[in-house]
Amino acid sequence: MLDHVLDRRADDRRDRRRLAQHRADLKARVLVVDPDGMFASEPVGTSGPLLPEESGEVFLGVGPSGPWFARRGEVHGGTSLREASGLSSEQHQVVMAATAILAWHDTEPRCERCHGQTVPVDGGFSRRCLDCGRLVFPRTDPAMIVAVVDEDDRLLLGHQLTWPTGRASLLAGFTEAGESVEAAVVREVGEESQLQVTALRYLVSQPWPFPRSLMLAFVARASGEPVADGVELEWVRWFGRSDYERALGSGIVLPPGPGSVARRVIEAWRAGRLPSPEDQPLI
Ligand SMILES: [Zn+2]
Repeated sequence: MLDHVLDRRADDRRDRRRLAQHRADLKARVLVVDPDGMFASEPVGTSGPLLPEESGEVFLGVGPSGPWFARRGEVHGGTSLREASGLSSEQHQVVMAATAILAWHDTEPRCERCHGQTVPVDGGFSRRCLDCGRLVFPRTDPAMIVAVVDEDDRLLLGHQLTWPTGRASLLAGFTEAGESVEAAVVREVGEESQLQVTALRYLVSQPWPFPRSLMLAFVARASGEPVADGVELEWVRWFGRSDYERALGSGIVLPPGPGSVARRVIEAWRAGRLPSPEDQPLI
């Protein structure tokens, strides 16, 4: 899905004149996000400081509808990103970027060298140490999510202990220090289901800024009877397509949230559109 419509304009972040121009643009909007992830957009308005560093706003870039800024604030009657559906590509990318960068500023990271206080610079996409001048950048944690299918194209779904009753989704987990994402797929599937992955293939990625994950989605092959670990997963089992449709229809099983990559991958499996894990990449 190569519809990257939010042009982040990294050069403009460091250019006070262009930042001021974007903010003065009549089409400029600010996405207000509260700490719970509820959001709503409003016109930037003409009052207040002009530069993001001074206003606490972050310059996100320019989309088809105009320049976008983001800031923390109170949101009344907004939408939650976790459950949002029907967002345009522009809205989705703006909300993801805003949620991630604002969560990072909330932590007010200290300087990595001298632990000094840092302040936002570069349109809000980095922070500078007031003591030694070092720049601090946002970090992203790679995580993987995997559609495990068996030789009959059944899909492996699990239910986490912390989820609402019935919710079932793909297995997922974080990569560990010094570990490839492919190795994390094999390890997590083994830990959570006792199944051995025999082939895997990368599908697509999606930022998941709660607070700073990047989900890398795979399809993988495994066979045998899964066993839930009882720690993270309460249950894990294979679903054939008709089996899954029946469980969905009766409400016994609930799908993942509409904005999630898990939902997208499961929809692809339902439609028979997942590639084979055995189709290996070129290298
Ligand atoms: Zn420092």
